[in-house]
Amino acid sequence: SSLQESLVDGPRATVDLRTDVAHSARIYDYFLGGKDNFPADREAAAQIQAAFPHTPAAAVQNRAFLVRTARFLAQAGIRQFLDIGTGIPTRPNLHEVVQAITPESRVVYADNDPIVLAHARALLTSDARGRTAYLDADLRDPGRILAAPELLETIDLSQPVALSVIAVLHFVPVEHDQYGIIRTLVDVLPSGSYLTMSYLTADHNPDQVAKLVSAYRAQGIDVTARTRDEVGRFFQGLDLVTPGIVPLHLWRPDDPAVTADSATEAGGNIVWSAVAQKP
Ligand code: SAH
Repeated sequence: SSLQESLVDGPRATVDLRTDVAHSARIYDYFLGGKDNFPADREAAAQIQAAFPHTPAAAVQNRAFLVRTARFLAQAGIRQFLDIGTGIPTRPNLHEVVQAITPESRVVYADNDPIVLAHARALLTSDARGRTAYLDADLRDPGRILAAPELLETIDLSQPVALSVIAVLHFVPVEHDQYGIIRTLVDVLPSGSYLTMSYLTADHNPDQVAKLVSAYRAQGIDVTARTRDEVGRFFQGLDLVTPGIVPLHLWRPDDPAVTADSATEAGGNIVWSAVAQKP
């Protein structure tokens, strides 16, 4: 829409980034070594890292999981992607991964943070044979995402779609019915579609993750950790792809040696990750 375009064209003039308070997108960007963060985000990151020193490693592992799953799905023949909670553009972005394999891939991104909107141009650099779109939208309102004209113009909902909700659902307060949100999204996708998710957990290191959760909440950012069984409930009715629900670094690692690195292991262990297909 023209509103969307005008926001993307002149973001800083039209969007209030609220740089005075920490935002999850910018904290994550900081942990990944990005430059799109502000003092409030870096102070929050320091508190979070004090609670759990391997948080930057967890962020790197999470992003690597996103890249591996995107490659896996493209190689499995998926041509359409809906990525909710996209984050600030980084290298590589999801469309770059999948279009390197299948240039005609179509990708719809959605995030509710104004800084992601401000940088959305970097997400719209599609291969000419494919297409990308960006939605300034909230995961708490899945009906609006599914009805968005930009989505319906980009993705054919009669063909399989890979829905990714990676490191985002744990930021949705539990009173918003996280299970209902995922059900609403998966219900409209045809057979053969996939759900990819990663979600914070305290299963391996409860004390440190409890402190990490407190550090986020002290910054006004709601975050929830879930057990493996609770994460498994998001995949009810779907067929988990091997190896199932595992710590980040153990989901089809490129390099088996990665599991030997203690920082990687500690980081990867605070997040459950999985890919599943709709029968
Ligand atoms: N999925 C990316 C980025 C994770 S950072 C990755 O895994 O690399 C979490 C992102 O979720 C941030 O960009 C944040 O703005 C976004 N987010 C948090 N709550 C959201 C919500 N309710 N709706 C949409 N996006 C949300």
